[in-house]
Amino acid sequence: MIAEAKGRGEIAVIGLGRSGTAAARLLARDGARVYATDAGGSEAVATAAAALRAEGIAADGGSHDMARIRGAALLVVSPGVPPEALPLAMAREAGIRIVGEIEVALHALRGVPYIAVTGTNGKSTVTALLAHLLAALGHRAVAAGNIGRALSDVALQDERPDWIALEVSSFQLHDAPGLAPTVGVLTNLSPDHLDRYPSVDAYYADKALLYRNASAESRWVVNADDRLALDLGLGCAGTRWAFSRRDQHATAHDEAARDALVLFKRPLITRAELPLLGWHNVENTLAALLAVMVADPAHQSKDARAALAEAVRSFRGLPHRLEIVADDGGVRWINDSKATNVSSARVAIEAMTRPTVVLLGGKHKGEPYTALREPLRAHAKLVIAYGEAAPLVAADLAGDVPLEQCGSSFEDVMQRARAAAEPGDAVLLAPACSSFDMFTNYEFRGNEFRRLARRDA
Ligand code: ADP
Repeated sequence: MIAEAKGRGEIAVIGLGRSGTAAARLLARDGARVYATDAGGSEAVATAAAALRAEGIAADGGSHDMARIRGAALLVVSPGVPPEALPLAMAREAGIRIVGEIEVALHALRGVPYIAVTGTNGKSTVTALLAHLLAALGHRAVAAGNIGRALSDVALQDERPDWIALEVSSFQLHDAPGLAPTVGVLTNLSPDHLDRYPSVDAYYADKALLYRNASAESRWVVNADDRLALDLGLGCAGTRWAFSRRDQHATAHDEAARDALVLFKRPLITRAELPLLGWHNVENTLAALLAVMVADPAHQSKDARAALAEAVRSFRGLPHRLEIVADDGGVRWINDSKATNVSSARVAIEAMTRPTVVLLGGKHKGEPYTALREPLRAHAKLVIAYGEAAPLVAADLAGDVPLEQCGSSFEDVMQRARAAAEPGDAVLLAPACSSFDMFTNYEFRGNEFRRLARRDA
């Protein structure tokens, strides 16, 4: 489709963030006529547009030339552009094909094997761990996609990787008709993004697109403990391997008796050796190990297993995911800013081993908070509800757990947390909400938590 569109006319790239600019460059490098545009008025957009123009690529920052877009042979859209954005609505009406940046990159990277990871939670952790494990086996492996590095950027490099760990969000799946991974991993499923999808079923339907090009050679890694996720790909072509915390028949499982992660019937590493906190990270580790081992039978040899175990031990995890940012006066401060939905906040709270002050709030995404009641009862000494969602959090949880609402200044929230925490306690930022009411994104929120926890200037 990309090749055909190249021959037919200009390709319009909508959105000049990291992935849009990389896709524009990639298309231009491969001989396409490109028009790149972003209606945003920020300085970053203006700079990106100017940089593209300097390279001879037509680009507009701050406005769209709609007539030009209407004449395009294909629209390439960055993941951040909402479906109701004017150029997309117009393209749908005019019958112009719309694909995501990942589709462009996959076309350029034809022949490079990749493991695609999707699911509601755990995607980035599994993707980063996959790249780390593959590198430990001697591969030139990279992590890309929704994790932060645009796949088009990988495709722009002179040296090709020999494996890619590719994180794909539901939005990216929607616009990647050519996605056909060597191995596909579905971590889990629960409601999310109800602010962008009309229903939870519409969200799950996009997740099911992981399987859209399933063939007899496809390999799938699925979560035996998550009925919804398990059912999603039922009946599609290829071979399925399961990971599980409970099912001792799953190819990858946690075996309580031996306190070990067992893969292909043999223990690979003890649970106590895992550097990451929480049961959900046992699941993430099982998923990543299993995906690497089924990706190539050579990855199941005795030597490979030893290298994989060593790599799991040395994996440091990602920032903003149960990241211990300070131990101060006996209080442990834990940044889980990436817990942007209720199910991820839940596993973070469940991972706590100390009495915990939990910071909950931000921009509401549509889910009720009642599912947090039981873990909060078990682990929270205080819930501080803050930001736009504070009244909703309080309405769902007050009376069941000690809860206070605290203004909309994050500094006030942190001050209150510091006053409430005693030696031996933890303070956990697991907001269950997006950050957009007070911050640019979850990274800014987590960085602010880290700075204030460490009392940095
Ligand atoms: P994603 O990329 O899917 O958002 P991350 O690996 O970035 O996932 O983790 C985001 C948050 O989700 C973490 O901070 C943690 O609270 C939670 N989480 C991570 N792994 C899992 C899992 N396997 N099941 C449920 N929640 C998880």
